[in-house]
Amino acid sequence: MKLARNIIIALIAGVIVGLALNLFAPSVFDPVDTYFFGPLGTIFLNLMKMLVVPVVFVSIVLGTVGIGDPKKLGRIGSKTIVYFLLTTAVAIVIALILALILKPGTAGNFDTASINYEAQEAPPVMDTLLGIIPTNPVTAMAEGNMLQIIFFAALIGFGLAMLGKKVERVKEVIEQANDLIMYLITFVMKFAPYGAFGLIASAVGSQGFDAIRAMGMYMGVVLGALLIHSVVVYGGTVALIGKRSPIWFFKNFFPAQVVAFSTASSAATLPVSLKMAQERLKVPESISSFTQSLGATINMDGTAIMQGAAVVFIAQAFGIELSLGQLLIVVLTAVLASIGTAAVPGAGLIMLAMVLTSVGLPVEGIALVLGVDRLLDMVRTAVNITGDAACAVVVSQTEGVLGDPEMEGVPAESKTV
Ligand code: ASP
Repeated sequence: MKLARNIIIALIAGVIVGLALNLFAPSVFDPVDTYFFGPLGTIFLNLMKMLVVPVVFVSIVLGTVGIGDPKKLGRIGSKTIVYFLLTTAVAIVIALILALILKPGTAGNFDTASINYEAQEAPPVMDTLLGIIPTNPVTAMAEGNMLQIIFFAALIGFGLAMLGKKVERVKEVIEQANDLIMYLITFVMKFAPYGAFGLIASAVGSQGFDAIRAMGMYMGVVLGALLIHSVVVYGGTVALIGKRSPIWFFKNFFPAQVVAFSTASSAATLPVSLKMAQERLKVPESISSFTQSLGATINMDGTAIMQGAAVVFIAQAFGIELSLGQLLIVVLTAVLASIGTAAVPGAGLIMLAMVLTSVGLPVEGIALVLGVDRLLDMVRTAVNITGDAACAVVVSQTEGVLGDPEMEGVPAESKTV
């Protein structure tokens, strides 16, 4: 909690400094950003990213050994996927409804005639899913291909569980590696307040505030939908299925949300979100490692919300009416797009091109939302990883293995599920 408080203080300080430079000394901002804010943020981001592949590999291996039984693994996997898909679909529907009611695209004069935007090619979602089996696990790790690493690690864990005593030493080594990595996460997190300061000062300082003013309504729709979704869907499922107080859930997961907010990357936040879920939310490592690593890669409700709101906004700005059928297509493609979105800053915007194309809207429309996307990215990333943690709590409870919230500081028993 002390760390979360320090990060918040750093964020506030970063906003003030970034804003002050942006408004009163714009010419000073660039050099300060290049030599101070930027490097601070990059050092922190790199330290976190450095731990992602080892933490995912080690914790998924141990997670699979802990679950052992492939049937159980299948059941946990199915529950996780169902939760991910349903909540993402609900997220888009909330965004669509809010955008249709509040009509952000009619709340200003958007010059749609003169925009010029080259959309990047969105990677085909099917390729991502079919490419789950790595032909070379070392390449998968070198490239940080999360789904392939998860697959390989799960297979190793399965082998370890099957061979049992014979490979006990290998398992022990991986268990110790896990302790080591968890220690490193705590260590690296000490730098988080400085990193958060640099990241937010850089983001705020480089922001064009005129763009924000013009886009107030669109931002309101996205932020409103993110809030409603978090409270109703995550709070609701944690309370009803997870049998835990939503306030307890949000309070204990808060440090991870703050890191997600500052980094705008689900992947870079993964080490902290795993740690928070295991130590504070008492999710056993076996479930947390799966749901959250997979979720960081394919479950992005916040991103889906942005995409839903942006589609309606762009249609309205261009004066195009969307039919009910088209809205349904948006729900489907935005679910797919959020699965295919990489867990890095700004990736959701690239996939927006795919959603726009699916209903024949001009991809140039992305230029309209581009200016304010960085700030929204920070908030939606925090929501993205909260969905993964909520899922971990819900699945653990339905499996009867969610730890006792009273056991402060003691991780839930992780080896037997
Ligand atoms: N930055 C988001 C994430 O990492 C993805 C996006 O929506 O751009 O979760």
